Amino acid sequence: MSVMNIGENDNREIHCQAMGHDVPFSYCRKGAAAQPCRKIFDCWYQFFDIERFMQDHYTQDQIHRILSPPQPKLTTLIDLIQRAKESAVKNRADRDEGGGS
Ligand code: SF4
Repeated sequence: MSVMNIGENDNREIHCQAMGHDVPFSYCRKGAAAQPCRKIFDCWYQFFDIERFMQDHYTQDQIHRILSPPQPKLTTLIDLIQRAKESAVKNRADRDEGGGS
């Protein structure tokens, strides 16, 4: 079976319930966050083989991430703070190990 070209459905249009107007598939696959919209399977399954398209162009991990519900902003902020703290601790440890004078 041949791989579906990533742009071959870009000009198809449907009515987006979320935005209230028609959108091309190119928008749905790129999305506002530079990744396919979380609703891409629900919105496009009637029009072409969206499952095959996604499997041709995204890994299972990527699809899993795409379909995951968005994290609440507070959780994201807490994650960022935690990562910054961990990074600062690691940088300090690296500096202490490498300083040696
Ligand atoms: S996939 Fe997303 S952007 Fe595209 S029509 Fe559905 S809800 Fe709208």
